[in-house]
Amino acid sequence: MREYKKEMKPYKCLNCGREGFGRADRKFCSVECKNAWHNTQSRPSRLCRSRIITALGRNYEILRGCMERGELSIDLMTLEDRGFRPCYVTGYNPVRYGPDTYRCFDISYCRSSSRVYRIRKENED
Ligand SMILES: [Zn+2]
Repeated sequence: MREYKKEMKPYKCLNCGREGFGRADRKFCSVECKNAWHNTQSRPSRLCRSRIITALGRNYEILRGCMERGELSIDLMTLEDRGFRPCYVTGYNPVRYGPDTYRCFDISYCRSSSRVYRIRKENED
C-alpha cells in the first residue's frame, strides 16, 4: 500500500482543470469529466463521418433517380447540379484496359472526366 501511495502524483483534470492527487497517469477528476472530454475530442470526426454518409446517401438517390428515368449515361456537370459529389464513393475499381468503375453501395458506374455512364445496379450475394 505504501508503494502504491508513492505513485500518487498531483494532476490537473484535462476537462475542468480541477487539481488533485491521483495515480501517476490520472488525467481526470471524475468519470463524467473523462466522458465529457472524450466526447468533445471525437465530435469533429463524428461530424465528418456523418457529412460523408449524408453525401453518399444523396449520391445514391441521384443515381437511383437516373436509373428510374433510364438515364444510364449522363453529363457529370448535370449530375453535380443535382447535388452529386463525385469524390464520395464506396468502391473504386481501376481497370487497366477500360473505364474505371466506381461504386455507390450497390450501384456501380463508370466515369470519364465529363460523364458518368453505365449506371447499373450490382447484384450482391
Ligand atoms: Zn474534471
